Amino acid sequence: MRTLAQELKDIFGKRVQKLPLDGGFTCPNRERGSGCLFCSERGSGEFTLKGHITEQLRLQKERLAHKWPGSLYLAYFQNFSGTYGPIDKLRSVYEEAISDDEVVGLAIATRVDCLNEDVLDLLEEMRDRTFLWLELGLQSVNPAVMKKMNLGYTVEDYVEAMTKLRERKIPVVTHMILGLPGSTFQDEMETATLILKEKSWGVKIHGLYVQKGAPLAKIYESGEYVPLERDEYIRRVTDILELFGDEVVIHRLTGDPPHDELLAPLWMKDKRRVLGSVQKEHARRRRSL
Ligand code: SF4
Repeated sequence: MRTLAQELKDIFGKRVQKLPLDGGFTCPNRERGSGCLFCSERGSGEFTLKGHITEQLRLQKERLAHKWPGSLYLAYFQNFSGTYGPIDKLRSVYEEAISDDEVVGLAIATRVDCLNEDVLDLLEEMRDRTFLWLELGLQSVNPAVMKKMNLGYTVEDYVEAMTKLRERKIPVVTHMILGLPGSTFQDEMETATLILKEKSWGVKIHGLYVQKGAPLAKIYESGEYVPLERDEYIRRVTDILELFGDEVVIHRLTGDPPHDELLAPLWMKDKRRVLGSVQKEHARRRRSL
């Protein structure tokens, strides 16, 4: 398994921590309506702060300093759609982030429908100036599930975006979610297979969780949605890890929901235990090969 921590250590020679930032972006899917069913008030940026980028960088470094003193940092535009907005504004926030001497790279989370030619030109320029990756949501390849989740894009949109990004040599980290309403394990394996086929550099995998205030909360409270059990999640995620082998960098293996906003599943609060179980199961299977 290729982990992000090891990958970054190989590239930079020391530990690199991500600093979650709020670039003041919005999201076209929220502007059109309520957004993805799992979207929280903060647009999936639960650990970000507000304010100038320089100040956010300072505060996030302070928050994380105790973890790995002396590490380097990556500026991570996490919430809403980090390539959605006037091009001058995008340039200005990216520039402010990479002007920090301790910031060695840029990670930008966005959507497949927020990649026009100007944006792609800017990303290509940034890739030449710093270490860069782009995060794209795919979540599932099942069209009925995508529609139900109100993702607002199709598998074809993802493939088209990946083609353009590959042409420009911009590394991508694709997000996929296990346990979406109406999704089967086979859908999830097909999603992973497409991620491999499209040569995504990395992947973030997590189980669907229900946060207070997200549209999914009403569906969960009505009893229409039942989250995955912990053991089932571990089995599925390990199967997917085996499929990815060493071809894809694993950025995430489980969700990290803010505890006070989590409605279900509660097992997801114990991230370390989930990660430990996945690693144990992965190692057990390798031993029995
Ligand atoms: S793309 Fe992200 S910010 Fe936009 S609606 Fe979906 S989860 Fe929310």
